[in-house]
Amino acid sequence: NPELKKHTFEAEVAQLLHLVTHSLYSNADIFVRELVSNASDACDKLRFEGTNDDSLYESDGELKIRIAIDEDAKTITFTDNGIGMNEADAIENLGTIAKSGTKAFLDKLSESQKQEGQLIGQFGVGFYSGFIVADTISVESRKAGEPADKGVRWVSDGTGSFTVEPITKDARGTAITLHLKEEYVEGEDSYLDRAKIKRLVNKYSDHISLPIQMRKEVWQEDVADDETDSADAQASAGGEMVLTDEWETINKASALWTRSSSEIEDEEYVDFYKNISYDMDAPLTWTHNRVEGRVQYTQLLYIPKKAPVDLYTREQQHGLKLYVKRVFIMDEAEQLLPMYLRFVKGVIDSADLPLNVSRELLQESRDVKSIRDGNARRILTLLASLANSEDSDKQEKFAQFYAEFGDVIKEGVGEDMGNQERIAKLLRYATSTQDSVMTSFEDYKARMKDGQKAIYYITADNLAAAKNSPQLELFKKKGIEVILMTSRVDEWAMNFLTSFDETPLQNIAKGAVDLGDLQDEAEKAEAEKAEETMKPVVDKLKAALGERAKDVKVSTRLVDSPACLVVGEGELSPQMIQMLQQMGQ
Ligand code: ADP
Ligand code: MG
Repeated sequence: NPELKKHTFEAEVAQLLHLVTHSLYSNADIFVRELVSNASDACDKLRFEGTNDDSLYESDGELKIRIAIDEDAKTITFTDNGIGMNEADAIENLGTIAKSGTKAFLDKLSESQKQEGQLIGQFGVGFYSGFIVADTISVESRKAGEPADKGVRWVSDGTGSFTVEPITKDARGTAITLHLKEEYVEGEDSYLDRAKIKRLVNKYSDHISLPIQMRKEVWQEDVADDETDSADAQASAGGEMVLTDEWETINKASALWTRSSSEIEDEEYVDFYKNISYDMDAPLTWTHNRVEGRVQYTQLLYIPKKAPVDLYTREQQHGLKLYVKRVFIMDEAEQLLPMYLRFVKGVIDSADLPLNVSRELLQESRDVKSIRDGNARRILTLLASLANSEDSDKQEKFAQFYAEFGDVIKEGVGEDMGNQERIAKLLRYATSTQDSVMTSFEDYKARMKDGQKAIYYITADNLAAAKNSPQLELFKKKGIEVILMTSRVDEWAMNFLTSFDETPLQNIAKGAVDLGDLQDEAEKAEAEKAEETMKPVVDKLKAALGERAKDVKVSTRLVDSPACLVVGEGELSPQMIQMLQQMGQ
């Protein structure tokens, strides 16, 4: 064909393909999920665009996905009548990596190859997963609303290149045919096995709200012999399963979140999570509610077990899937969650939002704000219920959560003033007397000394530095517990949190520390005397340090060390300065 054009894959795609085919064979099954999910996305896109332009349906309004197996040709084909692609779309969508997350993933991977099997799932290799099981993939597609002769055939063996050529295709949508590798056409690993494909669809894609169909099979008895028509002979007659021309729907096609939570098994929740999150691990926990208020919506929110690798990068994609009356509207609707809850996955379905809602519109909508507040509140309540539970399983879950996401939650202290107190209750730290990193402000308060008027803390780069800080000496001597904060975000967060449950929070490295009643009269007198006797030394130091020190003072906070540096009240500490520098400020 003179119109056949050869293209090479973008370098990143080639790299990804290599990884997919070399490291994902133990997860070969996932291609079914990926291709079904793409077909479903394509139908969602049509449904979405079709709300403004009826003609796109081309008098075929029954959106569906079909899976056909051809044992002789050793192929399996996924067909949909969704939005479809033209030639330019195919080159763009199937030849480049549009998602920055995938790039980040590739970078990460060379560092820690070990985890690749786990990591790869987080980014959803999508379409390319087909090459785990296929030595050739052929995609035939025609875009909704375009003429039949504007179809495209895209073919690749998944190594360096692909070809495209124009075709005529009457039926709108896409057919993706995988020519299976030898190791996947026989025995247990065979994907020519109809029952196996059906099982995989049920496992991964039951919630897809479109019918997924396969050819119907019926039991056909051997044609009975005229001469032996006794009942016995009939019963023992053999037969076989034969395929018919009829199609049957093999999935339940009911969106999981629309069902009542009492009727949903944990396993279904877990499968659904894996389906929407690309996480191969089960979630840590979840919450599923129908919210009735000013805005009515269903929320199904999951907390993952592990933080994604890109949790702290700026490009990090986050947000929930948004549906309006079960019609998929968008992925990663970040307006539905505050930033500090960006690790939460899930689905929001609201009948109160318009179908043609855009990201811009979401930003301004009061209804969306109310959904976001509701989501934040629900997650914080869920976390509090784990943290405060008597049940050791739940406590363990909270500890697991905190180890992965504790630092992100701290951002909320500054970001979400309305929930500041709720968030502060979830924070946990090591202290000068407790090695475990699970002391809450409440625990601390319960252990405070008689007469202690503040919660004391210190920030440092790491635990060892915090523990050995000279600032701690007096507190150690007096047996006063001090919270040790060692995360980069702690100091920033503490700018917003000045008290907990009416007890002021005080950084012992900042300004003057007044221990109040914890210091007896004799000590105070001694301090005053020291100030006098040491005056000549102080003056000398001031002169010697000149501009480099703002002030030199006699302090009672040291026991063993001769001197220490202190940051003035309301000034930036060394850690804070370092953090701002790293952020490029
Ligand atoms: P993702 O689904 O995360 O975007 P994929 O690798 O699964 O990534 O698919 C890449 C792109 O190819 C999709 O975004 C879509 O534009 C296109 N595509 C894949 N399958 C289909 C399909 N069945 N119909 C229309 N477009 C498709
Ligand atoms: Mg996909």
